[in-house]
Amino acid sequence: MTAVPPASDAVAGQAPAPLRAAVRQLDFFYGDTQALKAVELPIVEGKVTALIGPSGCGKSTLLRCFNRMHDLYPGNRYEGEIILYPEGINIVAPDVDPLLARLRIGMVFQKPNPFPKSVYENVAAGLHVRGLRNRTEIGHRVEAALRQAALWDEVKDRLQESAYGLSGGQQQRLCIARTLAPEPELILLDEPTSALDPIATAKIEELMDELRGAYTIMIVTHNMQQAARISDFTAFMHLGQMVEYDVTDRIFTNPAEERTRAYVTGRFG
Ligand code: ADP
Repeated sequence: MTAVPPASDAVAGQAPAPLRAAVRQLDFFYGDTQALKAVELPIVEGKVTALIGPSGCGKSTLLRCFNRMHDLYPGNRYEGEIILYPEGINIVAPDVDPLLARLRIGMVFQKPNPFPKSVYENVAAGLHVRGLRNRTEIGHRVEAALRQAALWDEVKDRLQESAYGLSGGQQQRLCIARTLAPEPELILLDEPTSALDPIATAKIEELMDELRGAYTIMIVTHNMQQAARISDFTAFMHLGQMVEYDVTDRIFTNPAEERTRAYVTGRFG
């Protein structure tokens, strides 16, 4: 197995890229079941990193470690580190409050999950949680987030209507706007288009392209064409291990590992 590059030389042969986060020797256990084994992964700032691999390989488990979602269930356990830069804090350390991770890292799920509130209140909710009280500022930030999520023109005349009245694709862009509003340091997307039709999927992919640079994004996808289209870096996982991480082009055209090659060419099994 090729070693996953150390965080400091995430892009082979190029100047070290600034990192937003780095996973180091991360193990994760659901009770007695070990779902992640010594995972290493650099997350380069301002880039899109895709996690790919066969179903059950640990992609969602890894993503959920980043915002300490697993803490909601007793018996789950982390060993190792997820370092968040620039401070270098380990966000899975037992003495770090999971709320800290959730405030700094935003997550968008497979199925759109707007709150049973108005379009406006859905986006404002994350700002309230962060203690923002100034109504004018909240209004500006809601509009900015809806614009960034390419939804403003479609909803500007129905901000006070229920979010449930939007289409599935619009609801997912609303969830992205809700995540963007508090300006998270890292955005996690767990198969964000798997419940959407091709047109809504294309809009979300376009959106990710626009957010690149301003945001650091990690996306789990079972769709390899999607990973190839939208990501800068790709990580291939199998059986809870990180098999290979590289720039996306290389993973899809000339991977170092046979298992990666078999997966990306559809010969896995
Ligand atoms: P992927 O996202 O790649 O499909 P998952 O991260 O969902 O994979 O699952 C990784 C492994 O962890 C699988 O073997 C799965 O059965 C197991 N797993 C996932 N969720 C739980 C859970 N809540 N309790 C116990 N095992 C789980």
